[in-house]
Amino acid sequence: MSQLPRRTKIVATIGPASLDPEVLVRMIDAGMDVARLNFSHGTHESHAETVNLVRAAADRAGRPVAILQDLPGPKIRLGQVANEPIELKEGHRMTLVAGSVEDVGDADRLVVAWDRFAEAVEVGEEVHLADGTVRLKVLAVRKGEGEADCVVELGGPVSSRKGVNLSGPADLLPAVPEEDLLHLAAGKAMGVDMVAVSFVRRAEDLEALRSRTRCPLIAKFEKPQAIANAESIVAASDCIMVARGDLGIELPIAQVPRVQKQLIALAGAYARPAITATQMLESMVSSSRPTRAEVTDVANAILDGTDAVMLSQESAIGMYPVEAIRTLADVARETETIAPFFDWNERRVKRDSTDPGWAVARSAVQTAQELDAAAIVVPTLSGRSARLVSAHRPNRPVIALSPSRETVARCNLMWGVDAALMHHHAVTEELIKDSATKVRELDWLKPGDRVVITAGLPSGQPGTTSLLQVQTV
Ligand code: PEP
Repeated sequence: MSQLPRRTKIVATIGPASLDPEVLVRMIDAGMDVARLNFSHGTHESHAETVNLVRAAADRAGRPVAILQDLPGPKIRLGQVANEPIELKEGHRMTLVAGSVEDVGDADRLVVAWDRFAEAVEVGEEVHLADGTVRLKVLAVRKGEGEADCVVELGGPVSSRKGVNLSGPADLLPAVPEEDLLHLAAGKAMGVDMVAVSFVRRAEDLEALRSRTRCPLIAKFEKPQAIANAESIVAASDCIMVARGDLGIELPIAQVPRVQKQLIALAGAYARPAITATQMLESMVSSSRPTRAEVTDVANAILDGTDAVMLSQESAIGMYPVEAIRTLADVARETETIAPFFDWNERRVKRDSTDPGWAVARSAVQTAQELDAAAIVVPTLSGRSARLVSAHRPNRPVIALSPSRETVARCNLMWGVDAALMHHHAVTEELIKDSATKVRELDWLKPGDRVVITAGLPSGQPGTTSLLQVQTV
Protein backbone atom coordinates (compact mmCIF):
# COMPACT_ATOMS: atom_id res chain seq x y z
CA MET A 1 0.00 0.00 0.00
CA SER A 2 1.49 3.35 -0.93
CA GLN A 3 1.88 5.80 1.93
CA LEU A 4 -0.19 8.94 2.24
CA PRO A 5 1.84 12.10 1.60
CA ARG A 6 2.99 14.11 4.62
CA ARG A 7 2.97 17.90 4.62
CA THR A 8 3.62 18.75 8.28
CA LYS A 9 7.35 19.12 8.97
CA ILE A 10 9.20 17.45 11.84
CA VAL A 11 11.85 19.13 13.99
CA ALA A 12 13.86 16.90 16.33
CA THR A 13 16.30 18.05 19.01
CA ILE A 14 19.62 16.23 18.82
CA GLY A 15 21.20 15.03 22.05
CA PRO A 16 22.95 12.01 23.54
CA ALA A 17 20.07 9.71 22.47
CA SER A 18 20.43 10.67 18.81
CA LEU A 19 24.17 11.35 18.46
CA ASP A 20 24.91 8.21 16.53
CA PRO A 21 25.28 7.91 12.75
CA GLU A 22 22.94 4.90 12.49
CA VAL A 23 20.27 6.46 14.72
CA LEU A 24 20.45 9.72 12.77
CA VAL A 25 19.95 7.93 9.43
CA ARG A 26 16.93 6.11 10.91
CA MET A 27 15.55 9.40 12.25
CA ILE A 28 15.86 10.98 8.81
CA ASP A 29 14.26 7.93 7.15
CA ALA A 30 11.43 8.18 9.70
CA GLY A 31 10.78 11.82 8.73
CA MET A 32 13.11 14.30 10.51
CA ASP A 33 13.19 17.45 8.37
CA VAL A 34 15.02 19.76 10.75
CA ALA A 35 17.66 18.91 13.38
CA ARG A 36 17.61 21.29 16.36
CA LEU A 37 20.80 22.02 18.28
CA ASN A 38 20.04 23.47 21.71
CA PHE A 39 22.88 25.88 22.51
CA SER A 40 21.78 26.02 26.17
CA HIS A 41 23.78 22.80 26.48
CA GLY A 42 27.03 21.50 24.98
CA THR A 43 30.13 23.28 23.65
CA HIS A 44 30.80 24.84 20.26
CA GLU A 45 33.08 21.89 19.50
CA SER A 46 30.36 19.36 20.33
CA HIS A 47 27.78 21.27 18.23
CA ALA A 48 30.19 21.42 15.27
CA GLU A 49 30.60 17.66 15.53
CA THR A 50 26.82 17.22 15.64
CA VAL A 51 26.42 19.35 12.50
CA ASN A 52 28.93 17.11 10.69
CA LEU A 53 27.15 13.96 11.85
CA VAL A 54 23.74 15.26 10.73
CA ARG A 55 25.06 16.38 7.34
CA ALA A 56 26.73 12.99 6.78
CA ALA A 57 23.55 11.14 7.85
CA ALA A 58 21.42 13.28 5.51
CA ASP A 59 23.76 12.42 2.61
CA ARG A 60 23.51 8.73 3.47
CA ALA A 61 19.73 8.87 3.81
CA GLY A 62 19.42 10.86 0.57
CA ARG A 63 17.09 13.43 2.14
CA PRO A 64 17.94 17.04 2.98
CA VAL A 65 17.89 18.03 6.67
CA ALA A 66 18.08 21.65 7.80
CA ILE A 67 20.00 22.60 10.93
CA LEU A 68 18.34 24.87 13.47
CA GLN A 69 20.51 26.66 16.03
CA ASP A 70 18.47 27.45 19.16
CA LEU A 71 20.07 30.31 21.12
CA PRO A 72 19.64 30.25 24.92
CA GLY A 73 18.59 33.93 25.12
CA PRO A 74 18.42 35.81 28.42
CA LYS A 75 17.39 32.75 30.42
CA ILE A 76 17.98 33.07 34.16
CA ARG A 77 19.57 30.01 35.73
CA LEU A 78 20.68 28.80 39.12
CA GLY A 79 24.40 28.81 39.93
CA GLN A 80 26.07 25.64 41.18
CA VAL A 81 24.36 23.47 43.78
CA ALA A 82 26.48 21.58 46.34
CA ASN A 83 25.74 17.86 46.82
CA GLU A 84 23.23 17.90 43.99
CA PRO A 85 20.49 17.09 43.35
CA ILE A 86 19.01 18.54 46.51
CA GLU A 87 15.38 18.16 47.51
CA LEU A 88 13.51 21.37 48.39
CA LYS A 89 10.70 20.37 50.77
CA GLU A 90 7.34 22.12 50.91
CA GLY A 91 7.27 24.69 53.75
CA HIS A 92 11.09 25.03 53.81
CA ARG A 93 12.29 28.63 54.21
CA MET A 94 15.38 29.61 52.26
CA THR A 95 17.12 32.58 50.60
CA LEU A 96 17.78 33.21 46.91
CA VAL A 97 21.05 35.11 46.44
CA ALA A 98 22.20 37.02 43.34
CA GLY A 99 25.55 35.66 42.11
CA SER A 100 27.35 34.12 39.15
CA VAL A 101 27.25 30.73 37.41
CA GLU A 102 30.33 29.59 39.36
CA ASP A 103 28.97 30.47 42.82
CA VAL A 104 27.89 27.46 44.87
CA GLY A 105 24.69 27.35 46.93
CA ASP A 106 22.68 24.84 48.95
CA ALA A 107 19.12 24.21 50.13
CA ASP A 108 19.25 27.21 52.50
CA ARG A 109 20.99 29.72 50.19
CA LEU A 110 20.50 29.03 46.48
CA VAL A 111 22.43 31.15 43.97
CA VAL A 112 20.58 32.80 41.06
CA ALA A 113 23.14 33.52 38.33
CA TRP A 114 22.01 37.09 37.59
CA ASP A 115 23.40 40.10 39.42
CA ARG A 116 20.15 42.12 39.12
CA PHE A 117 17.91 39.28 40.34
CA ALA A 118 16.74 41.01 43.56
CA GLU A 119 15.76 44.16 41.62
CA ALA A 120 13.32 42.05 39.59
CA VAL A 121 11.34 40.39 42.44
CA GLU A 122 8.76 41.73 44.89
CA VAL A 123 7.20 40.34 48.07
CA GLY A 124 4.29 38.00 47.30
CA GLU A 125 5.52 37.03 43.82
CA GLU A 126 6.16 33.46 42.73
CA VAL A 127 9.53 32.15 41.55
CA HIS A 128 9.58 28.92 39.53
CA LEU A 129 12.62 26.66 39.40
CA ALA A 130 13.54 23.69 37.20
CA ASP A 131 10.89 24.03 34.45
CA GLY A 132 8.22 24.93 37.00
CA THR A 133 8.56 21.70 38.97
CA VAL A 134 9.46 23.74 42.09
CA ARG A 135 7.54 26.87 43.17
CA LEU A 136 8.66 29.42 45.77
CA LYS A 137 6.85 32.45 47.20
CA VAL A 138 8.87 35.58 48.01
CA LEU A 139 8.50 36.62 51.69
CA ALA A 140 11.05 39.45 51.92
CA VAL A 141 13.46 41.20 49.55
CA ARG A 142 16.72 42.98 50.45
CA LYS A 143 17.43 44.65 47.11
CA GLY A 144 20.69 46.27 48.26
CA GLU A 145 22.08 42.92 49.35
CA GLY A 146 20.75 41.04 46.31
CA GLU A 147 18.73 38.61 48.43
CA ALA A 148 15.14 37.37 48.61
CA ASP A 149 13.75 35.18 51.41
CA CYS A 150 11.29 32.57 50.10
CA VAL A 151 9.13 29.69 51.24
CA VAL A 152 8.85 26.51 49.17
CA GLU A 153 5.20 26.09 48.08
CA LEU A 154 5.75 23.19 45.69
CA GLY A 155 8.71 20.98 46.54
CA GLY A 156 10.98 18.95 44.27
CA PRO A 157 14.57 18.22 43.22
CA VAL A 158 16.90 21.02 42.13
CA SER A 159 20.39 20.91 40.63
CA SER A 160 23.02 23.25 39.12
CA ARG A 161 22.08 25.48 36.14
CA LYS A 162 18.35 24.70 36.33
CA GLY A 163 16.09 27.43 34.92
CA VAL A 164 14.58 30.21 37.05
CA ASN A 165 11.33 31.89 35.91
CA LEU A 166 10.33 35.20 37.50
CA SER A 167 7.08 37.06 36.97
CA GLY A 168 8.78 40.42 37.75
CA PRO A 169 10.19 43.03 35.34
CA ALA A 170 11.80 41.19 32.48
CA ASP A 171 12.88 44.57 31.08
CA LEU A 172 15.97 44.46 33.30
CA LEU A 173 17.30 41.61 31.18
CA PRO A 174 19.22 42.34 27.94
CA ALA A 175 17.33 41.45 24.73
CA VAL A 176 20.30 39.51 23.40
CA PRO A 177 23.02 38.50 25.87
CA GLU A 178 26.67 38.72 24.80
CA GLU A 179 26.93 34.91 24.87
CA ASP A 180 24.19 34.64 22.23
CA LEU A 181 26.30 36.74 19.85
CA LEU A 182 29.25 34.37 20.39
CA HIS A 183 26.94 31.37 19.78
CA LEU A 184 25.60 33.06 16.64
CA ALA A 185 29.11 33.57 15.24
CA ALA A 186 29.98 29.94 16.04
CA GLY A 187 26.75 28.72 14.38
CA LYS A 188 27.54 30.76 11.27
CA ALA A 189 30.96 29.06 11.03
CA MET A 190 29.21 25.67 11.32
CA GLY A 191 26.80 26.62 8.51
CA VAL A 192 23.52 26.36 10.44
CA ASP A 193 20.43 27.04 8.31
CA MET A 194 18.09 28.83 10.74
CA VAL A 195 18.31 30.48 14.16
CA ALA A 196 15.75 30.39 16.98
CA VAL A 197 15.72 33.38 19.33
CA SER A 198 14.65 32.64 22.91
CA PHE A 199 12.66 34.87 25.29
CA VAL A 200 11.80 37.48 22.66
CA ARG A 201 9.75 40.25 24.29
CA ARG A 202 9.35 42.79 21.50
CA ALA A 203 10.00 43.03 17.76
CA GLU A 204 13.17 45.07 18.31
CA ASP A 205 14.74 42.11 20.15
CA LEU A 206 15.24 40.47 16.74
CA GLU A 207 17.10 43.47 15.30
CA ALA A 208 20.41 42.92 17.09
CA LEU A 209 20.65 39.50 15.43
CA ARG A 210 19.19 40.46 12.05
CA SER A 211 22.24 42.54 11.15
CA ARG A 212 24.60 39.69 12.09
CA THR A 213 23.09 36.74 10.20
CA ARG A 214 21.50 35.87 6.88
CA CYS A 215 19.65 32.95 8.47
CA PRO A 216 15.88 33.12 8.97
CA LEU A 217 15.05 34.11 12.57
CA ILE A 218 12.53 32.04 14.50
CA ALA A 219 10.92 34.08 17.30
CA LYS A 220 10.23 31.83 20.29
CA PHE A 221 7.05 32.81 22.13
CA GLU A 222 7.62 32.00 25.79
CA LYS A 223 7.09 35.31 27.66
CA PRO A 224 3.82 37.11 28.51
CA GLN A 225 5.36 40.30 27.04
CA ALA A 226 5.76 38.49 23.70
CA ILE A 227 2.09 37.52 23.72
CA ALA A 228 1.18 41.17 24.34
CA ASN A 229 3.36 42.22 21.36
CA ALA A 230 2.53 39.17 19.23
CA GLU A 231 1.52 40.89 16.00
CA SER A 232 4.62 43.07 15.69
CA ILE A 233 6.91 40.17 16.63
CA VAL A 234 5.31 37.86 14.05
CA ALA A 235 5.66 40.57 11.39
CA ALA A 236 9.34 41.10 12.28
CA SER A 237 10.19 37.37 12.33
CA ASP A 238 10.67 34.80 9.55
CA CYS A 239 9.05 32.02 11.53
CA ILE A 240 7.67 31.51 15.03
CA MET A 241 7.87 28.82 17.69
CA VAL A 242 5.15 28.23 20.26
CA ALA A 243 7.63 27.29 23.02
CA ARG A 244 5.14 25.68 25.36
CA GLY A 245 7.75 24.67 27.96
CA ASP A 246 8.54 28.12 29.27
CA LEU A 247 5.19 29.51 28.12
CA GLY A 248 3.44 27.07 30.46
CA ILE A 249 5.45 28.44 33.40
CA GLU A 250 5.32 32.12 32.52
CA LEU A 251 1.56 32.10 31.78
CA PRO A 252 -1.22 30.39 33.75
CA ILE A 253 -1.01 26.93 32.18
CA ALA A 254 -4.72 26.92 31.23
CA GLN A 255 -3.97 29.73 28.76
CA VAL A 256 -1.46 27.66 26.75
CA PRO A 257 -3.97 25.98 24.36
CA ARG A 258 -5.72 29.28 23.59
CA VAL A 259 -2.44 31.15 23.09
CA GLN A 260 -1.13 28.34 20.84
CA LYS A 261 -4.19 28.64 18.60
CA GLN A 262 -4.00 32.45 18.50
CA LEU A 263 -0.27 32.49 17.69
CA ILE A 264 -0.56 29.88 14.93
CA ALA A 265 -3.47 31.80 13.39
CA LEU A 266 -1.46 35.03 13.51
CA ALA A 267 1.56 33.33 11.94
CA GLY A 268 -0.75 32.03 9.19
CA ALA A 269 -2.17 35.50 8.55
CA TYR A 270 1.37 36.85 8.06
CA ALA A 271 2.47 33.74 6.11
CA ARG A 272 5.14 32.89 8.68
CA PRO A 273 5.78 29.17 9.33
CA ALA A 274 4.97 28.08 12.90
CA ILE A 275 6.59 25.34 14.99
CA THR A 276 4.66 23.83 17.91
CA ALA A 277 7.13 22.66 20.55
CA THR A 278 7.59 20.81 23.82
CA GLN A 279 6.02 17.77 25.44
CA MET A 280 4.32 16.68 22.21
CA LEU A 281 5.18 13.04 22.94
CA GLU A 282 6.75 13.44 26.40
CA SER A 283 5.84 9.94 27.58
CA MET A 284 7.98 8.53 24.74
CA VAL A 285 11.09 9.60 26.66
CA SER A 286 10.67 6.27 28.43
CA SER A 287 7.80 4.47 26.66
CA SER A 288 7.69 3.00 23.16
CA ARG A 289 4.07 4.12 22.80
CA PRO A 290 2.64 7.62 23.25
CA THR A 291 -0.51 8.40 25.23
CA ARG A 292 -3.82 9.02 23.45
CA ALA A 293 -3.74 12.58 24.77
CA GLU A 294 -0.30 13.19 23.21
CA VAL A 295 -1.21 11.99 19.72
CA THR A 296 -4.40 14.04 19.95
CA ASP A 297 -2.32 17.10 20.91
CA VAL A 298 -0.14 16.57 17.81
CA ALA A 299 -3.24 16.22 15.60
CA ASN A 300 -4.82 19.34 17.10
CA ALA A 301 -1.66 21.41 16.52
CA ILE A 302 -1.80 20.35 12.86
CA LEU A 303 -5.48 21.31 12.64
CA ASP A 304 -4.57 24.64 14.31
CA GLY A 305 -2.35 25.16 11.23
CA THR A 306 1.14 24.52 12.59
CA ASP A 307 3.78 23.99 9.88
CA ALA A 308 6.00 21.83 12.05
CA VAL A 309 5.85 19.77 15.22
CA MET A 310 8.91 19.48 17.43
CA LEU A 311 10.51 16.91 19.73
CA SER A 312 12.78 17.98 22.60
CA GLN A 313 13.63 15.44 25.30
CA GLU A 314 11.98 12.66 23.27
CA SER A 315 14.73 12.74 20.64
CA ALA A 316 17.54 14.30 22.72
CA ILE A 317 17.63 12.02 25.74
CA GLY A 318 14.70 9.62 25.26
CA MET A 319 14.81 5.89 24.68
CA TYR A 320 12.77 5.99 21.44
CA PRO A 321 13.89 8.88 19.19
CA VAL A 322 13.15 7.04 15.92
CA GLU A 323 9.76 5.76 17.08
CA ALA A 324 8.80 9.25 18.29
CA ILE A 325 9.52 10.71 14.84
CA ARG A 326 7.62 7.87 13.17
CA THR A 327 4.66 8.58 15.47
CA LEU A 328 4.64 12.27 14.51
CA ALA A 329 4.82 11.35 10.81
CA ASP A 330 1.95 8.83 11.09
CA VAL A 331 -0.29 11.22 13.02
CA ALA A 332 0.48 14.00 10.51
CA ARG A 333 -0.46 11.82 7.50
CA GLU A 334 -3.73 10.74 9.08
CA THR A 335 -4.69 14.19 10.34
CA GLU A 336 -3.96 15.94 7.05
CA THR A 337 -6.70 13.86 5.39
CA ILE A 338 -9.28 15.88 7.36
CA ALA A 339 -7.55 19.27 7.09
CA PRO A 340 -9.92 22.17 6.34
CA PHE A 341 -8.22 22.94 3.02
CA PHE A 342 -10.94 25.15 1.57
CA ASP A 343 -11.15 27.31 4.66
CA TRP A 344 -7.34 27.57 4.82
CA ASN A 345 -7.07 28.40 1.09
CA GLU A 346 -9.61 31.19 1.38
CA ARG A 347 -9.20 32.64 4.84
CA ARG A 348 -5.90 31.70 6.47
CA VAL A 349 -3.62 34.38 5.01
CA LYS A 350 -4.38 38.09 5.24
CA ARG A 351 -4.81 39.99 1.98
CA ASP A 352 -1.97 42.33 1.07
CA SER A 353 -2.95 44.75 -1.65
CA THR A 354 0.52 46.32 -1.67
CA ASP A 355 2.36 43.18 -2.75
CA PRO A 356 1.34 41.08 -5.80
CA GLY A 357 3.24 38.03 -4.43
CA TRP A 358 0.41 37.33 -1.98
CA ALA A 359 -2.34 37.47 -4.59
CA VAL A 360 -0.28 35.33 -7.02
CA ALA A 361 0.21 32.74 -4.28
CA ARG A 362 -3.52 32.51 -3.59
CA SER A 363 -4.31 32.43 -7.30
CA ALA A 364 -1.80 29.60 -7.82
CA VAL A 365 -3.49 27.59 -5.06
CA GLN A 366 -6.97 28.20 -6.51
CA THR A 367 -5.84 27.46 -10.07
CA ALA A 368 -4.12 24.23 -9.05
CA GLN A 369 -7.28 23.15 -7.25
CA GLU A 370 -9.59 24.03 -10.13
CA LEU A 371 -7.42 22.36 -12.80
CA ASP A 372 -6.63 19.39 -10.59
CA ALA A 373 -2.94 20.12 -11.18
CA ALA A 374 -0.36 17.59 -9.99
CA ALA A 375 1.72 20.25 -8.21
CA ILE A 376 2.47 23.93 -7.77
CA VAL A 377 6.03 24.63 -8.90
CA VAL A 378 7.62 27.68 -7.30
CA PRO A 379 11.00 28.93 -8.52
CA THR A 380 12.19 31.03 -5.59
CA LEU A 381 15.38 32.93 -4.79
CA SER A 382 14.81 33.80 -1.14
CA GLY A 383 12.11 31.20 -0.37
CA ARG A 384 9.51 33.92 0.07
CA SER A 385 7.28 32.80 -2.82
CA ALA A 386 7.31 29.22 -1.52
CA ARG A 387 6.39 30.50 1.96
CA LEU A 388 3.46 32.50 0.56
CA VAL A 389 2.10 29.51 -1.41
CA SER A 390 2.58 27.14 1.55
CA ALA A 391 0.76 29.51 3.93
CA HIS A 392 -2.41 29.17 1.80
CA ARG A 393 -2.26 25.42 2.47
CA PRO A 394 -2.80 24.02 -1.05
CA ASN A 395 -4.15 20.50 -1.27
CA ARG A 396 -1.42 19.84 -3.86
CA PRO A 397 2.32 19.29 -3.45
CA VAL A 398 4.42 22.47 -3.61
CA ILE A 399 7.78 22.06 -5.34
CA ALA A 400 10.21 24.89 -4.62
CA LEU A 401 13.23 25.25 -6.92
CA SER A 402 16.09 27.56 -6.08
CA PRO A 403 19.69 28.23 -7.09
CA SER A 404 20.41 28.86 -3.39
CA ARG A 405 21.29 26.04 -0.97
CA GLU A 406 20.24 28.28 1.92
CA THR A 407 16.78 28.66 0.42
CA VAL A 408 16.39 24.94 -0.24
CA ALA A 409 17.26 24.30 3.43
CA ARG A 410 14.79 26.86 4.81
CA CYS A 411 11.95 25.22 2.82
CA ASN A 412 12.31 22.25 5.22
CA LEU A 413 10.18 24.17 7.74
CA MET A 414 7.41 25.04 5.27
CA TRP A 415 4.26 22.95 5.32
CA GLY A 416 3.80 20.89 2.15
CA VAL A 417 6.95 22.13 0.40
CA ASP A 418 9.60 19.88 -1.16
CA ALA A 419 12.62 21.77 -2.45
CA ALA A 420 15.52 21.16 -4.81
CA LEU A 421 18.37 23.11 -6.40
CA MET A 422 18.06 24.49 -9.92
CA HIS A 423 20.14 26.77 -12.16
CA HIS A 424 19.92 30.52 -11.94
CA HIS A 425 17.98 32.08 -14.85
CA ALA A 426 17.87 35.71 -15.88
CA VAL A 427 15.12 35.20 -18.49
CA THR A 428 11.64 34.36 -17.21
CA GLU A 429 10.71 32.06 -20.16
CA GLU A 430 13.85 30.00 -19.55
CA LEU A 431 13.12 29.86 -15.83
CA ILE A 432 9.64 28.42 -16.49
CA LYS A 433 10.90 25.96 -19.09
CA ASP A 434 13.74 24.73 -16.89
CA SER A 435 11.38 24.41 -13.90
CA ALA A 436 9.16 22.00 -15.85
CA THR A 437 12.23 20.04 -16.99
CA LYS A 438 13.67 19.94 -13.48
CA VAL A 439 10.56 18.45 -11.80
CA ARG A 440 10.51 15.70 -14.43
CA GLU A 441 14.22 14.99 -13.92
CA LEU A 442 13.65 14.77 -10.18
CA ASP A 443 11.03 12.11 -10.85
CA TRP A 444 8.63 14.01 -8.60
CA LEU A 445 6.18 14.33 -11.51
CA LYS A 446 5.60 12.33 -14.66
CA PRO A 447 5.28 13.45 -18.29
CA GLY A 448 1.74 14.61 -18.98
CA ASP A 449 1.18 15.98 -15.45
CA ARG A 450 -0.24 19.47 -15.41
CA VAL A 451 1.46 21.96 -13.12
CA VAL A 452 0.97 25.55 -12.05
CA ILE A 453 4.24 27.49 -12.13
CA THR A 454 4.71 30.87 -10.48
CA ALA A 455 7.40 33.29 -11.67
CA GLY A 456 8.65 36.84 -11.50
CA LEU A 457 9.51 39.50 -14.00
CA PRO A 458 12.34 40.31 -14.23
CA SER A 459 13.60 36.89 -13.26
CA GLY A 460 16.64 36.71 -10.99
CA GLN A 461 15.42 39.27 -8.46
CA PRO A 462 13.73 38.30 -5.21
CA GLY A 463 10.31 39.76 -4.39
CA THR A 464 9.14 40.16 -7.99
CA THR A 465 6.71 37.20 -8.21
CA SER A 466 3.85 38.51 -10.31
CA LEU A 467 2.73 35.79 -12.76
CA LEU A 468 1.64 32.22 -13.02
CA GLN A 469 1.58 29.77 -15.90
CA VAL A 470 -0.09 26.43 -16.44
CA GLN A 471 2.13 23.86 -18.15
CA THR A 472 2.06 20.21 -19.00
CA VAL A 473 5.26 18.47 -17.94
C1 PEP B 1 10.25 25.75 25.29
O1 PEP B 1 10.39 26.44 26.30
O2 PEP B 1 9.21 25.15 25.01
C2 PEP B 1 11.36 25.66 24.34
C3 PEP B 1 11.24 25.06 23.19
O3 PEP B 1 12.53 26.27 24.69
P1 PEP B 1 13.75 25.58 25.44
O4 PEP B 1 13.69 24.12 25.14
O5 PEP B 1 14.96 26.25 24.89
O6 PEP B 1 13.54 25.89 26.87
